[in-house]
Amino acid sequence: MSFTTLGLDPSLLATLTALGYTTPTPVQLQAIPAAIAGGDLLVSSQTGSGKTAAFLLPALQRLYKPSPLSGMGPRVLVLTPTRELALQVQKSCHGYGNGQRMRTASVVGGMPYGLQLKLLSRPVDIVIATPGRLKDHMDRRTVNLGRVELLVLDEADRMLDMGFQEEIDAIVAKIPKERQTLLFSATLEGIVGHLAQRVTRNPARITIARVAETRPDITQHALVADNHAHKVRMLDTLLREEEVDQTLVFTATKRAAEDLSGELLGKGFDVGALHGDMRQRERSQMLQRLRDGKMKVLVATDVAARGIDVPGINLVVNYDAPRQAEDYVHRIGRTGRAGRAGVAVTFLGAQDRNLVRQIERFTGNKVSMMVIPGLEPKGRGASASRVLPAAAGAGRGHEPSRRRGY
Ligand code: AMP
Repeated sequence: MSFTTLGLDPSLLATLTALGYTTPTPVQLQAIPAAIAGGDLLVSSQTGSGKTAAFLLPALQRLYKPSPLSGMGPRVLVLTPTRELALQVQKSCHGYGNGQRMRTASVVGGMPYGLQLKLLSRPVDIVIATPGRLKDHMDRRTVNLGRVELLVLDEADRMLDMGFQEEIDAIVAKIPKERQTLLFSATLEGIVGHLAQRVTRNPARITIARVAETRPDITQHALVADNHAHKVRMLDTLLREEEVDQTLVFTATKRAAEDLSGELLGKGFDVGALHGDMRQRERSQMLQRLRDGKMKVLVATDVAARGIDVPGINLVVNYDAPRQAEDYVHRIGRTGRAGRAGVAVTFLGAQDRNLVRQIERFTGNKVSMMVIPGLEPKGRGASASRVLPAAAGAGRGHEPSRRRGY
């Protein structure tokens, strides 16, 4: 299978070749020709499936033809749940549209209005936006959606999870009915199905079987935790392990991320917090410190941590266990980047009894129950027989161990 049979313009094919893409992924194979044909699509696919190219390549191809409408608004609108994803999509746009004359603007929350106003007051082809901020611009009449020919809802399930339903409906109401709509989501059931009914016309459904989420490069452990104090002691021990380079710690709430990072700071760790309530500037600075290796521990919430790609992270700790196996996969995927080995450790509270089995079924990976010597749980689960090896095996097999500035 190659890209040549999908109906893509030769210049896009040349870019793909230059990027080293030889074979379309399953979602690209199905969605690209269907999108080029012009109909609406409902696509269930996961992050990492290659879905961004599946909608951007047809979007870029569309821009080769002139717009039938004059004016300034975008011809393509991509809605994403988070600013990080929006910026990533914008970057991909320029990657896939290399050499093409095309103007993009990201319109996301947490960024100053000034630049966005400037970008929106000029001709623009593709706007990539988070629903809240775009709705603000709509209300201020600083964006014209009357020229949109193609609407993409990326990670629609996440947008609804984040409470953007009203904004999405308001935005869609301003876009011409003759548009093409492509909706991407991990699931097409439930409220996503209802949204799909409202925003698409006779959509074709494309369901991509979940690729096995197996990550043999990530060693996965679970530890039973009695309470907060026990978790902090275990975390403290893990963070001091010699082979741990950088660590990403997940908490369930923004508040918990703040509190825990404060507690770790008090223990002398070089630590920061990342969550959705922070200004974009603070978040960018925090991520830069992490990338530069100046910060060793980042405590984050699920949403804030999506898309973090820092090769130095060789330990992920689920301080609060994820709600579902899918979130687990996203979380642990923040380690083991760039072909390195990583370790994921999950603390299990009383309510997380069935989680390990669910995760194992979902991922096909083994999650070993472990204990840290001297920090055995008093309650349930004290029977775990395996002892967490030194450094939790972190970094095993790649870099020589060295202690760094804890
Ligand atoms: P996505 O699911 O869109 O976030 O894509 C996941 C990653 O796969 C991105 O880093 C893409 O650059 C890469 N990718 C997408 N399509 C292909 C392809 N056909 N061949 C190789 N890499 C790809």
